[in-house]
Amino acid sequence: MNEFRYFPLVSTDTSDNHKVPMFSSNDERQVAKNNKTYLEEFLPGKYRLHQQKDFFKTFSITCPHCFKEMQCISPADAYNINAIFICADCSIEQL
Ligand SMILES: [Zn+2]
Repeated sequence: MNEFRYFPLVSTDTSDNHKVPMFSSNDERQVAKNNKTYLEEFLPGKYRLHQQKDFFKTFSITCPHCFKEMQCISPADAYNINAIFICADCSIEQL
């Protein structure tokens, strides 16, 4: 069974350009209730970004596993408001 994991995100400074994950949870309802922004890990090293507003705002995000900066491989658009991020290092075993 593939269990998704959720990572609430916090900004590291007031500019709001960089976010880091705080902890992981598999309770999406709880995470979504308490956090405006969070990641959903739908495959190892691959994340869907959830935001309550400002869907098209972009920022960099640190990988929850290796703490390197992740890549946005699919920015939010009018058809899909959830941008997709991958960690080049942590998603390699999936290929
Ligand atoms: Zn990583």
